[in-house]
Amino acid sequence: MCASAASSESDAILQCIQAVRADLALLVGQGSLADYIPELAKVDPSKFGIAVATVDGRVLSAGDADEPFSVQSISKVFALTLALGKVGDALWKRVGREPSGTAFNSIVQLEHERGLPRNPFINAGAIVVTDVLLAGHQPKEAIGEMVRFVRSLADDETIAIDPSVAESEKAHGFRNAALASFMKSWGNLVHPVELTLGVYFHSCALAMSCAQLARAGLFLANGGRSPLTGLNVVSRARARRINALMLTCGHYDGSGDFAFRVGLPGKSGVGGGILAIVPGVAAIAVWSPGLDVHGNSLVGTRALELITQRMGWSIFGP
Ligand code: GLU
Repeated sequence: MCASAASSESDAILQCIQAVRADLALLVGQGSLADYIPELAKVDPSKFGIAVATVDGRVLSAGDADEPFSVQSISKVFALTLALGKVGDALWKRVGREPSGTAFNSIVQLEHERGLPRNPFINAGAIVVTDVLLAGHQPKEAIGEMVRFVRSLADDETIAIDPSVAESEKAHGFRNAALASFMKSWGNLVHPVELTLGVYFHSCALAMSCAQLARAGLFLANGGRSPLTGLNVVSRARARRINALMLTCGHYDGSGDFAFRVGLPGKSGVGGGILAIVPGVAAIAVWSPGLDVHGNSLVGTRALELITQRMGWSIFGP
């Protein structure tokens, strides 16, 4: 693309996200905070940020896009990428690839399916993925590897874990402990429950801004290669498949509705963030802490819906 076309595209994106932010101003603050993790209940519900990182390396942002927040389950995308790099398709013997249709922390389905989680983006699946990341490591090393990976993706050494969020989740993580213990009883967890959960909680407690998240997710929009660093993170085929899983499973039992309204692969977190991928074009990150009944950002989803409509970015057609 010539320089003037690229800059007019950037202008269009910037105008779009600024307009969306203004249009949704009155909705901000709606939804509920993830108070089952007490530290997340302290977040200011009026925060609202949007960042778009394009495959030609530009980052456009609006609102609170440079303020770090708790990425929570968005980290499951990075954990999955790392785990696939370690064990490849062998991962699919321990985790499925089907939408769950149940809540992110549901135990019902897990009992039915004998400790084999439906997909890597529900909590049970991500706990198994984390167990894979622990192989051959002490928990601290596995956590360090995750942080280094995300820093290298975003090309930003300042990204860190918020220890108070990790502690808060550990102190109240009874549901996750139940899921992990249940899977352990079926032999689908290799390491001790406490160790795997410790790494899982720390991964969820990564603090990143919308701009950092959009940059970190850019390899998925660019056939597996980061345009920021030139790093081949995954093959084209793997990037496509991670995107497919984000589309079908990235929003728990709200995944169908997200595909219907937004039309992009996406992954939400109960910190109120969403990372969405426009293949071949851009990665988008939004943050607004108020959640809908499924635990997905209410205003963040609406913002993505408006952005994809206005930019013609749905993967299902302009
Ligand atoms: N750390 C959260 C939990 O395990 C992640 C849930 C989410 O972000 O959806 O409950």
